[in-house]
Amino acid sequence: MHKKISRQKFIADSFVTGAGVLLLPRFIAEEKEIAMTVNGAIHAQQMGFTLTHEHVMADFIGAEKFSKDRYNADEVFNTALPFVKDAKAKGVDTFIDCTPAYMGRDASILKRLSDAVGINMLTTTGYYGAVNEKFVPKHAYLETAQQLADRWIAEWNHGIEEHRSNRVLSKQAPTKDRLHPCNGN
Ligand SMILES: [Zn+2]
Repeated sequence: MHKKISRQKFIADSFVTGAGVLLLPRFIAEEKEIAMTVNGAIHAQQMGFTLTHEHVMADFIGAEKFSKDRYNADEVFNTALPFVKDAKAKGVDTFIDCTPAYMGRDASILKRLSDAVGINMLTTTGYYGAVNEKFVPKHAYLETAQQLADRWIAEWNHGIEEHRSNRVLSKQAPTKDRLHPCNGN
């Protein structure tokens, strides 16, 4: 386990030792590291004890047929709530939901869970390329790499759906080390 060190002591030590002169800028840079949650940015240090790969919901129907009409948001929320509450009670501070877009990613439900339980919730951007790209939407094949990047960067900058719901993860999931050309444009 890392021994915690106070900022003041770290800076003092850094200046005392020759190496510290080099370390100090890195320390300041690390302090600016953020994680984007469904409720906006937090300091990376605020993530605390984190579940790194969870799924509140996943729909395996495929990008072509995926629709929010296929589930009831209240039912998903009510089903997940006791499990998320239990995780929080057991000391979890942050829950990373890895469900990609077109596979059941629903930032609104994650935000409701985050607000109800008082837990950090993170979601993803990007598309899921495994299973013969069953979950990759058509526009991924029609747009340029820049257009796709702009979509995902906009999710970071402006949020997903109507919420300030964002991501920390970019999900690609190639099958057997193979990247489809749409991943490499
Ligand atoms: Zn997963």
